[in-house]
Amino acid sequence: MTLADTAPLDVLKRVFGYDAFRGDQAEIVGHVCSGGDALVLMPTGGGKSLCYQIPALVRPGVGVVVSPLIALMQDQVDALTALGVRAGFLNSTQDPEQRRAVEAAYRSGELDLLYLAPERLRVESTLRLLERGTIALFAIDEAHCVAQWGHDFRPDYLALSQLHERWPDVPRIALTATATRATHTEIAQRLNLSDARHFVASFDRPNIQYRIAPKNEPRRQLLDLLRTEHPGDAGIVYCLSRKSVEQTAEFLVGQGIPALPYHAGLDAAVRRRNQARFLREDGVVMVATIAFGMGIDKPDVRFVAHLDLPKSVEGYYQETGRAGRDGLPSTAWLAYGLADVVQQRKMINESEGDRAHRQRLGQHLDAMLALCETVECRRVQLLNYFGQQGSPCGNCDTCLTPPESWDGTVAAQKVLSTVFRLDRERGQKFGAGQIIDILLGRRTAKVEQFGHDSLSVFGVGTDLGEGEWRGVVRQLMAQGLLGVEGTYQTFVLTEASRPVLRGERQVMMRRDPEKVARGRSRSSSKAPSSKAGPVDMPAGAAPVFERLRAWRGATAKESGMPAYVIFHDATLREIATRMPTTLAELGTISGIGENKLAKYGEGVLSTLAGEEPGAP
Ligand code: ADP
Ligand code: ZN
Repeated sequence: MTLADTAPLDVLKRVFGYDAFRGDQAEIVGHVCSGGDALVLMPTGGGKSLCYQIPALVRPGVGVVVSPLIALMQDQVDALTALGVRAGFLNSTQDPEQRRAVEAAYRSGELDLLYLAPERLRVESTLRLLERGTIALFAIDEAHCVAQWGHDFRPDYLALSQLHERWPDVPRIALTATATRATHTEIAQRLNLSDARHFVASFDRPNIQYRIAPKNEPRRQLLDLLRTEHPGDAGIVYCLSRKSVEQTAEFLVGQGIPALPYHAGLDAAVRRRNQARFLREDGVVMVATIAFGMGIDKPDVRFVAHLDLPKSVEGYYQETGRAGRDGLPSTAWLAYGLADVVQQRKMINESEGDRAHRQRLGQHLDAMLALCETVECRRVQLLNYFGQQGSPCGNCDTCLTPPESWDGTVAAQKVLSTVFRLDRERGQKFGAGQIIDILLGRRTAKVEQFGHDSLSVFGVGTDLGEGEWRGVVRQLMAQGLLGVEGTYQTFVLTEASRPVLRGERQVMMRRDPEKVARGRSRSSSKAPSSKAGPVDMPAGAAPVFERLRAWRGATAKESGMPAYVIFHDATLREIATRMPTTLAELGTISGIGENKLAKYGEGVLSTLAGEEPGAP
């Protein structure tokens, strides 16, 4: 494309078919176009790609995009090609011939954007290649990968700080959707971006409804969620272990839900195939470990469900952020229980690395637990974690069904003194089951075997039920008032337990709501729902929308591309509502740029006309 010196807003309209920049986009684009460095923190779905794609088109030369998402480069390049942008990539999946073709295109200035895996930049031959062309800018995507304590730390990213020494005049823009203040600072330092302008967008994702439910029968709870709220929707279910990924996927398939497994232990070809089906087909549920999802830009993921507790708020935020990139109502649902806390504390105790490392892992977990146990708005707590302010949102479980808090000091003392007596008086350590049996005064075989019915605490807890006691134990662990030890995950007191036992500290607890009402959320009453036909379309438009979807599906299949690369649902909805009759009219719809109009315009118009012969 020859767009050098075209005004950025014109590029936005002509190439991407959008009318206006969003949020900070205009400022970021302007800054980078004029040669400035930028560090961009924007939530998923915020529109980061345009921030470097437009400057790459406007500035002379090729925009070089460094991205760890090798598996997605082909899709990214296809999406750009559909817009008429000349894009290519270099990574390890290519054969030498494909690579040579891209290299030649780069040298002769026939590319607008070149995607590179970070490890390529450690190879001298790549650097020499880059020197033989003109570089418009460097974009460093998923920039949190430089952060040592991120989830996806890649040593290759550290080498990126050298780009500046080699090409001091080429602007650099680093982008990430994940950043606490500490990660943010670390990115700036490690990438040598001290003079860059920082753009920090609001991290709120108002269309996502956050819910954290007490875990009792996780698979049944999941099934209930899928059947009642998300039938036919695409979504992601995260599990901690490979085994539970496979079992859960099998379970869902057995229930008639099109689910696929994804984890690092699967054959690479199977992973690729499952990912491609998730991206290309409608309504597939991906059951995965956290190995899945980085860079997945499927816009219509309607729910993200966690069956196990994420290790940090950053991880939780990043994973849930994959829902609802298109801005339509979506659900982030997490099931969480006592066993999660015990398991994670144990994993930290046993993890490799020094004490400081374990301490950091512990802090990450504590923040995640605080989010789970809060009686305040989840969104406010999430935003606070990222250093931003918010007010009660009306679209999370604690806003929709406020949980009560209660004074759990006496209950806490009963649990702690049971642990104390077992340990101090008898030198024994037990897990939650035995402690709760003792408190409830149950004469089980194990209670009798150890003579625990003669303890003074035997039967002192009949005022609460078993479920409530599990909640108490869980919250004691979450608050650090009870520790876990050894292979059998048995309980021990911590430093913080003592003031509670001595009656010097009050312990407030959250009463788990019986069942969280699925109240109509703030955003689902405002924004269109994804189910039962979009409510922002007039009634008659729904069948037209379905026909357009069918046309899109067939067209996508023919060209081997995901359907959303052709047009997003939002664009099809607008077409169905406005029923354009000419190409010029069609071209004014959001998401239809010059290239897509030329390529798909006739197809859309005849789809509309074919079925509406008598329409005015
Ligand atoms: P991110 O990389 O930040 O997650 P993307 O760059 O994928 O987000 O953009 C998210 C969605 O928003 C995409 O579908 C994109 O086409 C759309 N989008 C981005 N900027 C605009 C804009 N100015 N107007 C309309 N849609 C936009
Ligand atoms: Zn809220």
